[in-house]
Amino acid sequence: MRFNNLFWCKKQTPAEGIRIDYKCDTEVFYTVSCNCGNTDDQIEYSIEFDTDTKDILLHSYVKLKTDWYSKVFDEYKFIDNYWLFAINYQLMSLINGLIRRITFTWKMWVHGYVEFHTHTILNEQVSMNYAMSILDAVREMKKVNK
Ligand SMILES: [Zn+2]
Repeated sequence: MRFNNLFWCKKQTPAEGIRIDYKCDTEVFYTVSCNCGNTDDQIEYSIEFDTDTKDILLHSYVKLKTDWYSKVFDEYKFIDNYWLFAINYQLMSLINGLIRRITFTWKMWVHGYVEFHTHTILNEQVSMNYAMSILDAVREMKKVNK
């Protein structure tokens, strides 16, 4: 492969961090795992070859999360008593979570969309495999669907 010469990482087979879930002549489904191990952070994606238009479609399926780090009330308020601290923490976490969800749905109602942020941590090799999986799928499907 000529692209392998451009990078110090080589594509691996089977690829580290990337799994092929399903494959047919016009579409390949992959999952790329997050380096932290949390499956909520993984990216599921598919590369589809449209036989009519000859376009390549990249579909991404990710779990989008609310801005879990935002808070109205301090959850770590200093309270000398352990039990009172724990109760305060749980209560403030619950209230902050409710406020986030209400704000989230309010933005959806008012603006019609919500902006998200999500991330998946990839090491160098996995990012290379991720890129190469798209390239491989496109090449293979174009070859099969000539
Ligand atoms: Zn993660």
